[in-house]
Amino acid sequence: MKEVDVVVLGTGAAGMVAALAAHDAGARVALYEKADVIGGTTALSGGVCWLPCNPLAAKAGLHDSREDALLYLRSLSHGLISEDLAEALVDGTAPVIEYLETRTPLRFQLLRIPDYHAERPGGKPLGGRSIEPTTTAFDELGDWAPRIGIGQFSDPVTGDVYLTTLDSPRGGGSGRIDDEELARRRRHKINGRGRGMIGGLLKACLERGFEPVTGARGTELLTDNGKVVGVRIERAGRIEEVRARGGVILATGGFEWNKELAVNFLRGPMQHPASIPTNTGDGLKMAMRVGAQLGNMREAWWMPAAKIPGVKQYGEQKVALILRERALPGTIMVNRRGQRFVNEATNYNAIAGAFHHLDPSQFDYGNLPCWIIFDSQMARYYGFLDVPIGGTMPDWVPSAPTLAALAAKIGVDAAGLEATVARWNTHAATGNDPDFGRGNSAYDGFNGDITRYPAKNSTIGPIHEAPYYALQLESSTLGTKGGPRTNRDGAVLDVDGRVIAGLYAAGNVMAGPTGMVYGGAGGTLGPAIVFGFNAGRHAAARAR
Ligand SMILES: Cc1cc2nc3c(=O)[nH]c(=O)nc-3n(C[C@H](O)[C@H](O)[C@H](O)COP(=O)(O)OP(=O)(O)OC[C@H]3O[C@@H](n4cnc5c(N)ncnc54)[C@H](O)[C@@H]3O)c2cc1C
Repeated sequence: MKEVDVVVLGTGAAGMVAALAAHDAGARVALYEKADVIGGTTALSGGVCWLPCNPLAAKAGLHDSREDALLYLRSLSHGLISEDLAEALVDGTAPVIEYLETRTPLRFQLLRIPDYHAERPGGKPLGGRSIEPTTTAFDELGDWAPRIGIGQFSDPVTGDVYLTTLDSPRGGGSGRIDDEELARRRRHKINGRGRGMIGGLLKACLERGFEPVTGARGTELLTDNGKVVGVRIERAGRIEEVRARGGVILATGGFEWNKELAVNFLRGPMQHPASIPTNTGDGLKMAMRVGAQLGNMREAWWMPAAKIPGVKQYGEQKVALILRERALPGTIMVNRRGQRFVNEATNYNAIAGAFHHLDPSQFDYGNLPCWIIFDSQMARYYGFLDVPIGGTMPDWVPSAPTLAALAAKIGVDAAGLEATVARWNTHAATGNDPDFGRGNSAYDGFNGDITRYPAKNSTIGPIHEAPYYALQLESSTLGTKGGPRTNRDGAVLDVDGRVIAGLYAAGNVMAGPTGMVYGGAGGTLGPAIVFGFNAGRHAAARAR
């Protein structure tokens, strides 16, 4: 039987940071990954981390404080955030950034993205809490380079992600880099965003002489007198038992790809996840079997998304995240009655509250399905999804010369849609949305027409030029965030609130420290790296 100090399951941000932190605290580490590639949903992601009170903001002269950060989270808690974990998150920000920047190749840069509820007490309308890793050269990763999962913005041929968020309009860039710089990035296989983050963390593992084992699935925890002492690993049809003196760290992501768990636990419909399909709740089940107390089970990092016909991602139907499109002027969202039902430009996580509204008399989710409606002017000026400015919309996006004909095509009430668009156009004329307050928050227009931001017409504009378009949206998720409850060290608690010795959880597998809240851009990866770091160090100390 193999024996190490710390076993980590999962190679997303939480697992990689946990493994490195454990190693650097003196532990012999084994890192297992169920998929054949590493990086989890993190590799696919934008790589942005929401870390309040971070040193980069302070250096840039943006004010933040522990009190502000906790006030902000408290104001959004609805009883779902434990003060202890919120404090651990805020207190853990500076140490994890310092660790990663001094002990690994990762470096961070500041993004000025408004908090998602910027007007709440302690919120930051000018941003400062979102940071992203700079870039990593994959030509230094040897045979490992092609074994990192593809990213949301991967080049379709090379798989590399050449631009960071800072290069994009959301980060203040133009979305283009000059030819010479692009050639350099191509030559050295330079990757940014979540893929670059995983590359940097992997590089740190390789420098220390350990590497992840892929195609290796943790299936069952080994226990002795109520303590977790190891884990069973299934690899290529064989089972291996691995002993871990310090503990086992679950970093296996959420349970969104397990239909049964999703239906039984989530608070409302989740039609198609946007994450990687190996996140099937293995860690959750392992923790349940040893008596873990569960928390935040109804919650996920919610996201409106659209199916792109015929396009696969990690072997599954791809869904595109609908972020910018909802906020652009000249788009609205309607339900099957043809009515608006939400501030379309609000943050993606909060919008799910409207998806999950149950109409009591109809006993139906009245806002699902729903459609994003827009006109030709909007498509021409801004482009839509992958269609560039001035490009032609693909045939699979339904269109019609009149709103009534469009409504008939998609099965929406025609009179309702016509009345809704007429009313929206009166809002566009005054630049105010009295119905849902679109444009009132600093965040709303940030994803819209950035050249007009912060004016309200960055997100409010008319729908009046035929042909008209409609795209059906799904209630999707970036990952669930319910699971075993932990203390500040990431140590898992049992149903009576006592630590289950030797068991840790970090990232989306754990009961998320921010409850229902998506604090700002990077709201999932920030906590994942803080709790990964805490769990790794604590498990290593336990082994000592
Ligand atoms: C397109 C997209 C963009 C996003 N952008 C951002 C962003 O910019 N900022 C942000 O904060 N969030 C973002 N997210 C969400 C974010 O990517 C996830 O919330 C985050 O990566 C979760 O990290 P994790 O380490 O918990 O899990 P993951 O990164 O999903 O890693 C979990 C890993 O565990 C492995 N695993 C599962 N079961 C087992 C098992 N039994 N044994 C061993 N391994 C196992 C999985 O295969 C996977 O590799 C985005 C998501 C998507 C889909």
